[in-house]
Amino acid sequence: MIFAGAFLFGAVMGSFLNVCASRLPRGASLWRPGSACPACAHPIRWHDNVPLLSFLILRGRCRDCRAPIGWRYPAVELGTALLFALAYAQLGLRGELALALVFVSALMVVTVIDLEHQLIPDRITLPVIAAGFLGSAATGQLSWLDSLLGILVGGGIIYAIIQGSRLVMGVEGMGGGDITLAAMVGAFLGWKLLLLGLFLAVLVGAAVAMALLASGRKGGKDPIPFGPFLALGGAVSLFWGKEILQWYLKGFLG
Ligand SMILES: [Zn+2]
Repeated sequence: MIFAGAFLFGAVMGSFLNVCASRLPRGASLWRPGSACPACAHPIRWHDNVPLLSFLILRGRCRDCRAPIGWRYPAVELGTALLFALAYAQLGLRGELALALVFVSALMVVTVIDLEHQLIPDRITLPVIAAGFLGSAATGQLSWLDSLLGILVGGGIIYAIIQGSRLVMGVEGMGGGDITLAAMVGAFLGWKLLLLGLFLAVLVGAAVAMALLASGRKGGKDPIPFGPFLALGGAVSLFWGKEILQWYLKGFLG
């Protein structure tokens, strides 16, 4: 029952994250006006705004003008629902669960905004860094020092990569938003799991970039945002990081 509740709560939260991802980059209010169809501007009825279900019932089209609804909306709702259910399955009803839900919600909305706009708003990352630092210490998930080190190491490594690539190649592979996003991941995970998350992000990011270049879907100068990979690495590290590190250390130390 609670498991289904976590899934439903995640779907509702995903619906809200869709609103955040559409409005925060424009600096628009999250609360007013209510949602409207971007094609015909007709306000969306409450019964057409039910997470996941409405998309299926409307078959992905606006009830008024039949314009297609972006697949991003149900994808974010389903993705957030699955992440919330996974977090509950792993953590149970504890303080750490609330912390994990805030973390994965922030990762989700940052991923969508970075994919659509190639930017990561400080309006999201900075307050969530503070929430991660205070929440980690309050729930005892991390010591305040570990969380602080995570913030500094995460932000510091991305800052060094940006400065280094600017000096060596004259290009900027990442943006300032990646600094605060890495700091945010560090605030929730501590410095060890942050490093694992960064490592996974670079690994998957490089593989995807090479595949996109090889298939001709991206040219050498097209930007590929790093934020989504950082978010993926952070989420994997949150859910399975301890096991991955244990397995890794066992493999080398016998
Ligand atoms: Zn419409």
